[in-house]
Amino acid sequence: LDPNSDNLSFTDKEIEKVLRPQEFEDFTGQEKILENLKIFVQAAKLRGEALDHVLLHGPPGLGKTTLSNIIANEMGVNIKITSGPVLDKPGDLAGLLTNLDSGDILFIDEIHRLSPLVEEYLYSAMEDFKIDIMLESGPNARSVQITLNPFTLVGATTRSGLLTSPLRARFGINSRLQYYDAKLLTTIVLRSAQILKTNITDEGAFEIARRSRGTPRIANALLRRTRDFAQIKGNGSIETEIARYALNALNVDEHGLDEMDNKILSTIIDKFKGGPVGLKTIATAVGEEEGTIEEVYEPFLIQEGYLMRTSRGREATEAAYKHLGRLKLGAPGT
Ligand code: ADP
Repeated sequence: LDPNSDNLSFTDKEIEKVLRPQEFEDFTGQEKILENLKIFVQAAKLRGEALDHVLLHGPPGLGKTTLSNIIANEMGVNIKITSGPVLDKPGDLAGLLTNLDSGDILFIDEIHRLSPLVEEYLYSAMEDFKIDIMLESGPNARSVQITLNPFTLVGATTRSGLLTSPLRARFGINSRLQYYDAKLLTTIVLRSAQILKTNITDEGAFEIARRSRGTPRIANALLRRTRDFAQIKGNGSIETEIARYALNALNVDEHGLDEMDNKILSTIIDKFKGGPVGLKTIATAVGEEEGTIEEVYEPFLIQEGYLMRTSRGREATEAAYKHLGRLKLGAPGT
């Protein structure tokens, strides 16, 4: 259930599409971001212009791709989807850009993974809607400048810390998506269950929601797995008891933490006496990149009260000790 993984099966991908909200109205949560985007979209439409370039950042599965599609729908334009690692050469990008109609959206996922050459090529396209392309090769090679239709670049990234400042500066709209609380995720689970024609109680939905690591993608995946259990082991309807049974059978953490979350916490507690310990040391100990820990794992652990960032490093909280069933030495009563 790693939201980063690409091994969602074909049907998972298909179902993810079916469950994707199509309009601002269907999108739950991220209220501030939505409020602003609605205004920017409305204003751009009134002026008959392309929307400003949009940068969406935040951990995987929180709705960046979904929002981009919604923006295209609401603007009434086409969206072309690509990703940083796929755009190998400036020529690949030129091909996409020259095929955009006025106001269209180019969505680049994992935009932090663009090669420097392609990134630089993007600058003039974003700024002046102009690109240089090479005609012919060898001694006859020459470059001509062509003017593009005004378009909107929507960039998505889980690692905004890796974006260069010239690229970042070219986005007029810059939004960071937050983890969803259990209440919002309950709404999302109920909506998805309705689309999947699955019976579910509010309590059953809440049980799934609170164990979904603040992430709609995980909530939807758990809903589907739970539905299987309800069908085979229960009466087809998802109630608290069957949800609990299913999630335990699936080894889903009681509070929705994933393997790496738990590894980070247990490392801090078991190897570094609960901290404070530096990010770099943690990264080496758990075998994950510093930036990924900082931008993908820590925000959730901090939000849920398991981890603190102090001036001397990271510290595990009482809640982390309790969650992992460890005794905090020196704590009162131990
Ligand atoms: P990201 O691009 O950030 O990795 P996606 O946009 O692909 O995430 O979202 C993953 C899944 O979660 C989608 O299938 C979508 O249906 C669901 N989802 C994400 N955000 C929301 C939301 N706010 N409301 C309802 N469903 C959502």
